[in-house]
This record gives sequence, structure tokens and C-alpha cells, in this order.
Amino acid sequence: MNFRLLTLSTVICTGFGFAFADDALLSGTPFGSQSVDYSTGLPTTSVNTPAEAFDGDLSTCFASYDRSRTYVGLDLGEPHVITRVGWSPRNDYYGPGRVVLGVFQGANSPDFMDAVPLYIITEAGVIGTMHHANVDCSRGFRYVRYVGPADARCNIAELEFYGHPGAGDDSHLYQFTNIPTVVINTKDAQEPFDKETNIDSNIIILNDNTVDIEAIATTRERGNASRQFPKKPWRIKFDKKQNVLGSPAKAKKWCLINNYGDKTLMRNAIAFEVSRRMQMPYTPFLRMVDVVMNGEYKGTYQLTDQVELNDGRIEGKEMSDKDIEGDALTGAYHLEIDGYADQETSWFMSRRGIPVTIKSPDEDEILPVQHDYIEKAFNSMESSAFGGFFTNEKRGYRNYVDTYTWQRHMLIEEIVANPDQLWSIHLVKPRGDEHIAVASVWDFDIALDNDIRHVDSGHYPGYLWTVSTSAGTVRDLYYRFFIDDPSGVEEVKALWTNAREEYGITPESIQEYIDSVADNIRESQRLNFMRWPILDRMVHNNWQALGSWEAEVNYVRDFIEARINTLDKVIGYDPSSVSAITVATGGKVCVVNGSIVTEGFAQGTRYSVYDLSGKTVAEGECGEVSAKLAPGLYIVKAGNTNIKISVK
Ligand code: CA
Repeated sequence: MNFRLLTLSTVICTGFGFAFADDALLSGTPFGSQSVDYSTGLPTTSVNTPAEAFDGDLSTCFASYDRSRTYVGLDLGEPHVITRVGWSPRNDYYGPGRVVLGVFQGANSPDFMDAVPLYIITEAGVIGTMHHANVDCSRGFRYVRYVGPADARCNIAELEFYGHPGAGDDSHLYQFTNIPTVVINTKDAQEPFDKETNIDSNIIILNDNTVDIEAIATTRERGNASRQFPKKPWRIKFDKKQNVLGSPAKAKKWCLINNYGDKTLMRNAIAFEVSRRMQMPYTPFLRMVDVVMNGEYKGTYQLTDQVELNDGRIEGKEMSDKDIEGDALTGAYHLEIDGYADQETSWFMSRRGIPVTIKSPDEDEILPVQHDYIEKAFNSMESSAFGGFFTNEKRGYRNYVDTYTWQRHMLIEEIVANPDQLWSIHLVKPRGDEHIAVASVWDFDIALDNDIRHVDSGHYPGYLWTVSTSAGTVRDLYYRFFIDDPSGVEEVKALWTNAREEYGITPESIQEYIDSVADNIRESQRLNFMRWPILDRMVHNNWQALGSWEAEVNYVRDFIEARINTLDKVIGYDPSSVSAITVATGGKVCVVNGSIVTEGFAQGTRYSVYDLSGKTVAEGECGEVSAKLAPGLYIVKAGNTNIKISVK
């Protein structure tokens, strides 16, 4: 837009916001999906036609024959920058609700493979009235249309597009909410329908109102249990490797996780954050996004790494058919201990009954010599743990097991109380190294007390893995590592101490993270639960339905605190004896057995302890031990520093 237009518009807009000089009502050739004749219920070309959405008559309407992904629009003849849209719902009882989540789109290809959204309607309409919304999109389009919401006929009494001729530019594109919008347009608007058929797609990812990626890809369904829900999870594969939304990995394959049974929409995000804090070598990249497919709004999704060997993902080079002997044969292999292994093509059952899927080398590329090698390597690892049952011999497992990642993985899964933790474990066997490591966390939709089989798992007075589901006999392996081996037990305890004191595994800090995710997706979740109104009923493994997204998030906030406190007891860690809060001025204020202890302040520095109403409850000199405090939250002022402490 040049300066002259900008100035002119500013002047004319004053007070009205829509009397744009270059905001003319546009005309063109109407087009749309097959119409329906309501009197017969049959397809027609004579009534409820696309032209009736542009005839200026609020009593006539366009009505589609099919019930999803149906649309009506205009061919403007040449590109136009759209500044405003108008609509009026079908003029009867059904009309007002039938515009909610309707999406306006613009495209320059008549098949809409390059379409981007212009606006989404989020309120019911009023019949007999035109509604208008400004459009914030600088790209010009020849074709514009309105796509009706899913599972209903596209009904609209009247549509208006305003704007001015021009190709425009990409300086500012529309997003549904503050989080990125992922636009998927598939060939012939065919939705992915299984895990085998890759549908040709164009994918456009919008972030900060600009194009992050616009690329050719394929889309298919992914997942196991999660694929049974009406909100589907997808795997997308770009034709070339891409960095996505600032991801560390440049890769072709990405996942769009639906988080349908997880009404907080953030259980994976929380667990991945715990994994990062626990310093796993790799944690999958994750961004929350809105998804629109062929003009149909699909909900809040989690765009995340495909867990695979790749730079920026699981470390290790994918093997080829040349890697058949010597060092080359030893890795890298990507494995998964997998309760669903028997549904896979490339898998084995270990000697002691653990089902293992071989993820890499790929099932249609792996050579028998590679399969044999990794199966033997896994069995060696397994027997090193089991062998010499009642002797110290079992500690031989340290030659085959990467305890750094196995111990961290166990604690991560316990912190978020994941009942699936022994159902699926991603492993990597690196090249030239006998140690099999845990490669990545994944899949926490039933964690954080979202599984009817393990209600109140936060207070389960032990490790949840001892009672949760298990892929074959992997639980026996865990007993060897974390119960039977005294050094293993000690190492886990030391790791837990580090986690609590150094890695940010505290209720307060994780709750802060939860709050930040909640702020980020607050707008998006509103749309999501309009599309999927399930907040008042139980889906998947839910044992409760709290009625609102906020209540679900609050439940998880409280749960994480309960679980960390329980694990303190399980592992034998006393937070009151050692918990310390370091303050900026070089001193430390601790709570020791309910009393305030200060360290590192200059001799003679006074401290005061206030309750949250501001009342002084204790005073003293740094270095002295204070009187006991009742459990609660307090503010300690020491020197020039104020800090909040919690006495348990
Ligand atoms: Ca009309």
C-alpha cells in the first residue's frame, strides 16, 4: 500500500472503520459446491445456487448438498486485496448457528490449493442482518470463498467481499489466533483417511502474521488409539527438509498431535518441558498451532517432531544397505519397546518377552544381518540385567545400558505419572557403542491423572510403573535397574535431589510453565472447544469431566504439586531439610524443618518474615535460626531482598 492510499484511508476511516476509499464491494462470477433442493432433498442447479448468496436478498440463500467442506464464493477475474467480508445467515431457525466456525478464504489457484484463511466466524449470526468483519491480509486473491462449518450443509443467505484490485504482498497475513496457523490444502480436498495413503498437499504455516513455510507435502493419519477420535492426528511430510517455526531440526516429517482426550491440550507440552529440565539429550520440538484443512477449522494441535534419527532429533546417522559389517553394522538403530509391536512389520520379541519395534533402519530397507545384529544386541542388554539373578552379576548391565538416560526417563515419566510409560519407550543403539539409551519421551495424553485405570495417581505411594500397563516384560527390567540394584537406587536418589534443587523440578516452577502455556493457547482453546464441545463429557480414558478448560488446567497444576511431593517421599528426599532459595544479592534463605535459616548475608544483616497479609511473624539476624513457622507462604526480607518462601 503506498503512502497516498494510507493517508486517504486514515482520513476516511475516522469514526466508521469501514468507509475505506479502496474498500469497494466486489463483484465476480459466483461458484460453489453442488446445491440442494430442500423440497426433494436432491442435488439441483436451479435453487439455492451460488448466485443466491450474491443477489442482495437476505431471504434467498446458497445451500450445499454435501455436509462438510462445502463452499460458495466469487471468481473476481483478477487478484484483489480483500479488506472486509460480510455475511448473513440462512433466514430461518437453523441459520444463526450454521455460520459458527465458517471460514473465509482467498486463493489464486481455482482449486484453492494455495488458499489461506481471511477470517473465521466465531459468533452465531442474526437472521435478516448483514454482519461485517475487517480482513487483515495484504496478499491479493482472484478467488474468494466462504467454507461452511463441518458436519452441516453450507448455508448462507448473503456474502460480501470488499477490497481493491492488486496482487498485494505477504507483509501481513491473517491468523486465527496469536499462535501459528497451519494451513493444509489437499488434492481434491480429500481428507487423509488412513496411515498408508499419503494425500498430496500444500502446507502453509503462518507465524507472526507472515509466512513461515509454504511448501509441497503429503498428509496422512498417524497414531494408534488417538486415530479413533473424530479430531484426527496427522503426519505431514514435506518434499524437502524444512525448519519449522524455528525448530532445531531440518526435516521432512512432522506430526500434528490432536490431544483430544487431553482437555488441557498441554500434557505433552508439560512432560516435554520436564524432559528438557531433566537434561535428556533430546526432547521433541513442540509448538501449539491452529489447524485449518481445506477451509475447515480443525482445532488446536501440537506441531511436533517426528521422533526419528535426524540432526536436531535423535542423535545418530540412519544406516544404509552398505552398513553390514564391522563398526558400520553396530548402529545407529532406533528402537521402540512397544505394546503395539505385533502390529508392525519390522519387530522382534526379546528372549525374555519384551516386544520391540525396529523404527530405523526403515522396515522396507532393513537387511536381515542388521535385524539379527540389533535383536542380539537387545538380548545382550536384557540378559546383562537379568543374568545372575541374586548376585551382583546383574550390575553387568552397566556395560549395555545407558543409565544416564534410563534413570532420567524413569523420573520424567513418574513426575507426570504416565501410566503408558512402560507401553512405549523410544531407544537408540548408537554406532560403536554397546550402551542402549532411551532416545526420547513421547505421548502423555493419559498422564497427569487422565486415566480411569489409575485414578489419583499423584498420590500412588510408589513408582507408578510398578502397577501401570507394560509392553511385555519390560517392567522386570525396571525392577532390576531401580529396585534390585542398590547403586541404581542411590543414583536415582541423587538425580532426584539434583532435579529438585538444580533442574527446576519444583511445583512452583512447573506451575509457572503451565501458566505460560495456558496464556499462549487461551484464545486457541476457545475455538478448539467450539469445534469439539467435549468439556462436559468423558472421552478416551477420562475419569472426570470438569466442564471447562480452565478447570482442567487447574487440576493439572494441583496434580503436579501432589505428585512431586509424593515422589519426595517415595525416593526419600526431605525438601524441608534442604530446600533453598538462592537470592540475587548473594545470600540464601532456606527453610529447615520449618524454621528460617539464612546463609551468605553479611554479619548483622537483619531479616523479617511477613505473612501474606503483611503482618510480621518473625524477625532475626542472618545466621541465626528463627522460631518455627506454621505451614504456609511467607515473604522474607533479608538485606535488600524480598523473597517468597513456602513452609510445609
Ligand atoms: Ca441471498
